[in-house]
Amino acid sequence: MLTNDKLDAWDRENFFHPSTHLAQHARGESPNRIVTGGSGVHIEDRDGNRFLDAFAGLYCVNVGYGRAEIADAIAEQARELAYYHAYVGHGTEASITLAKMVMERAPAHMSKVYFGLSGSDANETNIKLVWYYNNILGRPEKKKIISRWRGYHGSGLMSGSLTGLELFHRKFDLPLTQVLHTEAPYFYRRPDLSMDEAGFVAHCVAELEALIAREGADTIAAFIGEPVLGTGGIVPPPEGYWPAIQAVLDRHDILLIADEVVTGFGRLGSMFGSDHYGIRPDIMTIAKGLTSAYAPLSGSIISDKVWKVLEQGTDENGPIGHGWTYSAHPIGAAAGVANLKLLDDLNLVTNADETGAYLNESLSSALSDHAHVGEVRGEGLLAAVEFVKGKDERVFFDPSEKVGPRIAAALLERGVIARAMPQGDILGFAPPFCLTREEADEVVGKTAAAVSSVLG
Ligand code: PLP
Repeated sequence: MLTNDKLDAWDRENFFHPSTHLAQHARGESPNRIVTGGSGVHIEDRDGNRFLDAFAGLYCVNVGYGRAEIADAIAEQARELAYYHAYVGHGTEASITLAKMVMERAPAHMSKVYFGLSGSDANETNIKLVWYYNNILGRPEKKKIISRWRGYHGSGLMSGSLTGLELFHRKFDLPLTQVLHTEAPYFYRRPDLSMDEAGFVAHCVAELEALIAREGADTIAAFIGEPVLGTGGIVPPPEGYWPAIQAVLDRHDILLIADEVVTGFGRLGSMFGSDHYGIRPDIMTIAKGLTSAYAPLSGSIISDKVWKVLEQGTDENGPIGHGWTYSAHPIGAAAGVANLKLLDDLNLVTNADETGAYLNESLSSALSDHAHVGEVRGEGLLAAVEFVKGKDERVFFDPSEKVGPRIAAALLERGVIARAMPQGDILGFAPPFCLTREEADEVVGKTAAAVSSVLG
């Protein structure tokens, strides 16, 4: 067996890690962690540490670690047929079954699912399909996409442009010019503290209307949003936000893409965020929870309305010129089938709802009164604690103080993984759906201790 020192040296010499300070890592100034195993909500590393992973990897291991049912399904598929493509009508039992299972769970007006590999590539697919759609409808000018500041939609050229976080644009020449950003539905950071929720929703609507008026509705193809802002700070929308936004989009004939990469398959305690908030999307992005990350797989769920135009397009132009070698990869599809079955068999969506409510209430009662906690918020098994320098005046810490990362590090020392969200001093929680109340108590107790150790 390789020693830890050897692996550490190889890692720093050879491995280009995503979302990492490359220079510090190469110089050995930042830690690396070699993860070896996992079971339920826990992971282990090669140094013999065991952590309660209250972020489920990257909010993706929804059914929990170490599920033999999914591992067996993957192994069986790999032995039987590791790969065949899905071009020109090819499929496997796994991919066809998974498509059926996805569509049975999707809102009734959705028609078909296209399978990709990651949330990012699914959003690339979505924008291409939206452009194709408007070309087929004879509206070649209707191409711009509206996203929100603080939205996260991936790291590709288009998906990274849709993302509304500075870190993902800086020095990459993003966003691309076809992408416009509008106000995030972030009530705590509303521009005017005298606004109530209804007033803030009206403000978001007015901002969107003004952007559409400035650009011209006939140039705008689609609006993309996560039902709950995820990486941008884990921010549930204010009451009434989605119906109000949907009404504007309908009025201007702008398609709505619901990015359900985090919220899809139960994280909010409902099958989809669209069900949860009464959103009627034209396209939905799915990934993470589709396989609980046991294998890479994503999807674009297409509504009847869009599908009809895609069919018309291929009748007029021939086969759709879009496909990945690994679309509907049989191993990913087998993992997806086993994963969705496990979600049902173990009633995990209900647990996300019930234990999520418990976790959110407990976090709120443990931390809301702290002098440096500005807000505790969440929905289902998503939660966040936002730290502020001055609570009453809502003054934020200077980012150079790294308050969020320091609290995440203090929590890690206590054996719990939460995520310091990339923009703002926000600690995020998104545990696996099998979390128990005792485990939720441990997360909350250790979080309170970590907060006290950093902020008093
Ligand atoms: N969309 C949302 C809402 C996400 O949270 C993410 C990833 O966190 C993505 C898209 C991109 O997915 P991936 O990292 O699989 O490309």
